[in-house]
Amino acid sequence: MGKNCRSYDELIDKSINQLHTEGRYRVFADLKRIKGQYPKAKFLDPETGTTRDVTIWCSNDYLGMGQNESVIKAMKHTIDEAGAGAGGTRNISGSTIYHKCLENSLADLHGKESALLFTSGYNSNEATLSTLAKIFPDCVFFSDELNHASMIQGIRNARTKKHILKHNDLKDLEELLALYPIDMPKVIAFESVYSMDGDIAPVEDIVALAKKYNALTYIDEVHAVGMYGPRGAGIAEQQGCMDQIDIIEGTLAKAYGVMGGYITASAKMIDAIRSYASGFIFTTALPPALCMGAFTAIEHLKTSNAERELQRQRVQQTRDALDKVMIPHFDNDSHIIPVIVGDPKLCKAITDDLMDDYGIYVQPINYPTVPRGTERLRFTPSPVHTEADIDYLIQSLIAVWHKYDLRFYSHAA
Ligand code: PLP
Repeated sequence: MGKNCRSYDELIDKSINQLHTEGRYRVFADLKRIKGQYPKAKFLDPETGTTRDVTIWCSNDYLGMGQNESVIKAMKHTIDEAGAGAGGTRNISGSTIYHKCLENSLADLHGKESALLFTSGYNSNEATLSTLAKIFPDCVFFSDELNHASMIQGIRNARTKKHILKHNDLKDLEELLALYPIDMPKVIAFESVYSMDGDIAPVEDIVALAKKYNALTYIDEVHAVGMYGPRGAGIAEQQGCMDQIDIIEGTLAKAYGVMGGYITASAKMIDAIRSYASGFIFTTALPPALCMGAFTAIEHLKTSNAERELQRQRVQQTRDALDKVMIPHFDNDSHIIPVIVGDPKLCKAITDDLMDDYGIYVQPINYPTVPRGTERLRFTPSPVHTEADIDYLIQSLIAVWHKYDLRFYSHAA
């Protein structure tokens, strides 16, 4: 290419055009959120420059905690008390009593000795998994095929041997584990609630295999923390095997409504990750206000079941309403309702219509987030959606389903 800048431009155009051709060019919806009104928001129409009312149906603020008054109050209070930013990495002036307080709360949530904060769930997965190979040289990873991009990247960066497991397949896992000597370091990395299909891992069974073959377990509970288990610690808590898992990873950005990621584990494990993980060491710590917002949400959801119960009710009502009008959706035991469209351009056209004609915001989910041919709408009903919101959603979907001549039937395969 030489130093001819036109060639750079041509290559950029080529890569972007490829996305347009495949129908998976991503268009962000610019929203103006209004405190206290979620899931209602204003959408800034890029063509007219005007705003209009929309209802958000695809948020990961699963319980509406991003709008919770005590969370907001805690954040405002901490800004007044401590200022805006952390001012440094955890090692160089950025470690505060607020970080410590949140880490103690997280360790308590998961019944572990220690916790470690990261600036996102993505970072916590990438940094921790890649660092395990530094601590356990020659370790072998066993990674579920539907694991999130951040886990895939972490395992890639570990630059050690890996096996990609058939999704939630215990037989496949056992056959692969059995290939290695018992004293060879092994890490089984998996999610509890899979974000795009919404299905749930057999955590207890995976833990049992890990014990049998002397493997460490690493679970991503990003879509489960705050939501499942008596104190909101996730699926491992719900299945009664939290104490058997070596490393539990989570986010503060979904059910806890704020931002940041973390792991919890034994004090020794956390000390080692803290000491070797580049993605932890060389980046600025979370702002104190975020820590206290997350702390407030976590402590609240340790004792309050009201949000979880209402959310479950809304999820069930949405599923029942979809069944009644025979719009196909994945059946699973979680709060995530995927409606498969199977074509990226159609998926985009449907979501554009829902936004433009009905004021319903649901983002199209395309490759590489999901496999090609399984493009979908992903609905996440929350306690702040009303029964009237659900009715309106269903009526709008029926209209769009007719317009595009989509199939109606009772359940997807
Ligand atoms: N793990 C899973 C399974 C996810 O779906 C996501 C994000 O959606 C992450 C990790 C990253 O979490 P965060 O948004 O906090 O970076």
